[in-house]
Amino acid sequence: MSEERKDTLAIISDDVIIQREFDALLEDYKNSNHRQKIEIITKAFNFANAAHKGIKRRSGEPYILHPIAVARIVVKEIGLGSTSICSALLHDVVEDTDYTVEDIERLFGKKIAQIVDGLTKISGGVFAEQASLQAENFRKLLLTMSEDIRVILIKIADRLHNMRTLGSMPPAKQYKIAGETQYIYAPLAHRLGLFPIKTELENLSFKYEHPETYADIERKLAKDKSARLAFYEQFSSPIKSRLREMGYDFDLKARIKSEYSIWKKMSTRQISFEEVYDILALRIVFTPKEDMSEKDQCWMIYSAITGIYRPHPERIRDWISTPKANGYEALHVTVMGNDGRWVEVQIRTQRMDEIAEKGLAAHWKYKTGEQDDDSELDKWLKTIKDLLKNPEPDAIDFMDTFKLNLFASEIFVFTPKGEIKMLPQGATALDFAFMLHSELGCKCLGAKVNHKLVPLSHVLESGDQVEILSSPRQNPQADWLDFVTTAKAKSRLRAYFRKEERNQITEGETILNACLEKVGRRANAYEINRLLSHYQITQPKELYQKIAAKKLPIEVDIPKLFPKPKQDNIFMRYLKKPFVQSDSANQTAETLPKPDKKRTVILSENNINTNYRLATCCQPIPGDDTLGYIDDANVVIVHKRECPTALKLKTSFGERIVATQWNTHKILTFKETIEVKGIDKLGVVIEVLHVISEQHSTNISEMHIVADAGIFTGRFVVYVHDTDEIKTLCDNILKLKEVNSVIRYIASDNKK
Ligand code: MN
Repeated sequence: MSEERKDTLAIISDDVIIQREFDALLEDYKNSNHRQKIEIITKAFNFANAAHKGIKRRSGEPYILHPIAVARIVVKEIGLGSTSICSALLHDVVEDTDYTVEDIERLFGKKIAQIVDGLTKISGGVFAEQASLQAENFRKLLLTMSEDIRVILIKIADRLHNMRTLGSMPPAKQYKIAGETQYIYAPLAHRLGLFPIKTELENLSFKYEHPETYADIERKLAKDKSARLAFYEQFSSPIKSRLREMGYDFDLKARIKSEYSIWKKMSTRQISFEEVYDILALRIVFTPKEDMSEKDQCWMIYSAITGIYRPHPERIRDWISTPKANGYEALHVTVMGNDGRWVEVQIRTQRMDEIAEKGLAAHWKYKTGEQDDDSELDKWLKTIKDLLKNPEPDAIDFMDTFKLNLFASEIFVFTPKGEIKMLPQGATALDFAFMLHSELGCKCLGAKVNHKLVPLSHVLESGDQVEILSSPRQNPQADWLDFVTTAKAKSRLRAYFRKEERNQITEGETILNACLEKVGRRANAYEINRLLSHYQITQPKELYQKIAAKKLPIEVDIPKLFPKPKQDNIFMRYLKKPFVQSDSANQTAETLPKPDKKRTVILSENNINTNYRLATCCQPIPGDDTLGYIDDANVVIVHKRECPTALKLKTSFGERIVATQWNTHKILTFKETIEVKGIDKLGVVIEVLHVISEQHSTNISEMHIVADAGIFTGRFVVYVHDTDEIKTLCDNILKLKEVNSVIRYIASDNKK
């Protein structure tokens, strides 16, 4: 036989194999309940086949067998239709041949071209040399996914086939692909409800990453196989008869845990293979009767089974009343077999089984733009879109927070109105607030979980009823990042702090400029450097931030560091006292006009600190009964009448006392401390805060809480306009059941 003839034979036999595989694809498609669009699928196949002609995979197979296999997974294992099948057949054409997306669009229309384009964009995989590049790839993946979910479904099918044929790859590549699969594709498959695919992806990754451990578990599983089968027969037979008596059409399957799941259980629980008790599970898939709800029938079967075997009281999982976020529905119960072993039994209807196998994605409505569907999957995709809209500058952070959400299993909690919300496990009250609304998250003060007050960091549990308490005065705090777990909350908080940081820097700059101006200087390089070295700070950014946070005494230090020229003195003093009559600027204290003792000093906001000053000992605020004392510098110092200092002054310097009268208009606020005493019950502080911030919209500057022997004492430093405000505030705090007393408090170190 000549060389040429051998080639021809090889090509013929390849063509036979290719045709056989394509026919199998068409067969799978015909068996699905999709509209029959054989023509366009055949056209896509012919086009791809011609484009990849003569190219072989590493295994030696014709290349086209790979797209055909991917298309088969797409229809048979994921349940997608002709558009996805065509896209799967064409998925490597643009990447590997000279054809362009435009060519695909011309021949197959816009939709298929868009999907192929998306697949081409993410064809490089996620893992890369640099972390930043990796994150960029990851973002690209999410972006294409949020544009059309079919892109990622086909990508998962592509990855599944590559994993199934990974054996022919060189080890370095195997490792990379397996790692990537474990890292991102398996969790994605899980999140999309593709449970069997997720299990297979994990198991194959495990096989290539830990070949020896895998082989060991595989061997042990094979060894136990006959014993397991015997147990299954014996365990399931009474269940079978009972279900038949009930008149059900059903399917009973033994579910064997995958090597990977067994290994995971062994390593997380630190147990041996023999100690993994739930290798075998039983699955009942039944056709429900028409005159009763699916839910009721699942519970009837549950009741029938627990009539035969004793149920584990803590291992009932009702995914029917509350399906998982990925759409999973089933009733799980763990019962004790005759030999004392616990066995899990999963109860599902046929419909639930299909969702469990193919995911909600199979029922996905392929709409772009406006979406009226409000499934959990929709909501999840919406969060992804939101995240992508506010990209974090640090791509790695973005990836980490996103992955957090991908891996987490869900809990469900209730709003006060009884609405169910899904959250990742470990989510806190603050995460919940952010989930409801970002604005609510930023203004969150605390929460009531099952009617009890809890801090923001409280970790929620399934079934909790959660009510969020907020205040318009609240703002995100730096430590919040320590206890939020959801990507949404994290990214919103980071965005807030970045903005806050920018504001702080601007504020610091303004303060510094004003301060330097007073000594006749500007914030030039010399001045900045001088300050940096004085405070031992390296970054100007940090300097500004610390100035804004009032952590640096620049008011004191700047005049020392930059002594101002002498001639400025008088002018500056003049500026500082704008309300003093102009001719008094040069006068000394002794020649200042004496306050008229017979006249009442009017205390209004616009002459504070010029006509009078408020005493620091008793800290009067508008509305207090006060008197004035003319000090040595001829300034009226306003004291409360009951102030001990004022009493002393009155007896010793009676002639210097003047009457005062408030005439304020709620322009300025004053710091006031209120002391609250009460029973130390969980959440009482939050209640007090709620009254202060929420009911009164009063700003709080500080608080100190001490709890001792069941009694708590809390001091809250608040900003109020006058005594009326503080009085109603105190009255309302006193209305709280746990509070016994509320008083205005004067710190003892201020008492002179
Ligand atoms: Mn491929």
